[in-house]
Amino acid sequence: MTATRPFSPPRMGEPYLLTPGPLTTAYEVKQAMLKDWGSWDDDFRAMTRDLRGRLLAMLGEGAEGFDCVPIQGSGSFLVEAMLGSFVPREGKVLVLANGAYGLRAATTMQYLGRAHVLLDKGDYLPPRGAEVARILADDPAITHVMAIHCETSSGILNPIEEISAATYAAGRKLLVDSMSAFGAIPLEPANIRFEAFVSSANKCIEGVPGFGFVIARKAAIEASRGNSHSLSLDVHAQWATMQKTGQWRFTPPTHVVAAFIEALKLHAAEGGVAARGARYLANRDTVVEGLREQGFETLLADRWLSPIIVTFFCPADPNFRFDRFYQLMKTQGFIIYPGKLTVVESFRIGCIGHMDTHVMRRVVAAAANALAEMGVTSAAPSARALEERKKLAA
Ligand SMILES: *Cc1c(COP(=O)(O)O)cnc(C)c1O
Repeated sequence: MTATRPFSPPRMGEPYLLTPGPLTTAYEVKQAMLKDWGSWDDDFRAMTRDLRGRLLAMLGEGAEGFDCVPIQGSGSFLVEAMLGSFVPREGKVLVLANGAYGLRAATTMQYLGRAHVLLDKGDYLPPRGAEVARILADDPAITHVMAIHCETSSGILNPIEEISAATYAAGRKLLVDSMSAFGAIPLEPANIRFEAFVSSANKCIEGVPGFGFVIARKAAIEASRGNSHSLSLDVHAQWATMQKTGQWRFTPPTHVVAAFIEALKLHAAEGGVAARGARYLANRDTVVEGLREQGFETLLADRWLSPIIVTFFCPADPNFRFDRFYQLMKTQGFIIYPGKLTVVESFRIGCIGHMDTHVMRRVVAAAANALAEMGVTSAAPSARALEERKKLAA
């Protein structure tokens, strides 16, 4: 079903967003926003109930022990809501970082003024279960571990299973930022133990930006009362109001919610998490294979590549300039994403959004055109870049 479903191009000459959210959405999703909703009305309350139920159903077996709390704002608001609500004021968090989002979680802890330690693995090296176990054994004050599922800054899929196993073996609790993974990569309590995770409307569910959601053990939500530093980001308060009245506490992004429900229906029609993940994987394989044929190389070895976004090294050819490459891709209808590595030049191609392998083949062809236009004869990266990559194998 997934391979043959036609993917309509964005309308009115819009480019494809090869960026990991906001991303290219289906026309039906945009169309769902052409109506105004009263936030207190029964119809909208039913939509909120529907949204929460559909998200919980994605957990599979054991979902009944969990609840879903949507909260207004971008993904970072949800990370802050989760940390502020589930970490008691006297708690201490081990933050695992290998990129911008892990570091942002640590910054969030600083703002919260709650105890934390940071394991910073640099630009992309994955935090491993054994080192988590060691840190937890050495520091009995740590109550929670905060992990990033897919670190979108490099595209690495972190080994969340072994991190979870190490965390619970030491009697601690796991919080997960699954922003760019949930909906395409399984995160099921039957297989991976966790206390809570967060994600947002505009990533793998393919909605538009405006809110995110916490999925947490009911017992953890009930126990979180009074922990939060913030009125608007208090997960317990938002949950308690929703349970009682079916409403959001403050003005909800009504149009975004309507669009999200359409996106959830498309997600289910496609075949749920497995099918969504399979489409993204096919997108990734198409773009990785096609660009490697031109000489491009990925930062990560295949084992660590996520189906979400891929980091490529910039070619070493002196004729290559990223800003020119970006413009040439844009004129061909594709918005790509600059890289985030501190040591070598790179760029990223997102594989998520309303697009399939036909689109990705056109991305590959567009890259070849752009290189030809710039007079770049080989897309091979510098020796320095390859040197950097060796660290991952070590
Ligand atoms: C997108 C994303 C976020 C949230 O970013 P916002 O810009 O606040 O939406 C957080 N963590 C990860 C891993 C992400 O990919």
